Amino acid sequence: MKFPFDDAPNTMAIICSHILEQGDNILYVSHDEDDGMWQFLCGNSHEITDAKLVALEEVFALDNSIARIADMPYGYIATRKNVNSEWKIHKK
Ligand SMILES: [Zn+2]
Repeated sequence: MKFPFDDAPNTMAIICSHILEQGDNILYVSHDEDDGMWQFLCGNSHEITDAKLVALEEVFALDNSIARIADMPYGYIATRKNVNSEWKIHKK
């Protein structure tokens, strides 16, 4: 599958340790307004130590359903109830 993001595949992104280390699903995505950083979170609460840095292509390899929100502009977030529901995109 073609890499769907405008960002380079090796762009650093934030992912939470629950997804990276415990295999939780991506249910909350933020495309930060100030610096364009992508954040992929499980939807639960987080401490700063839960934030891990990985390449965007690693996140895509983990769950290619994020292709559907790859064109989300800066300052927007996407959420879904579970992996089978559609992404809901709205301004932060
Ligand atoms: Zn998490």
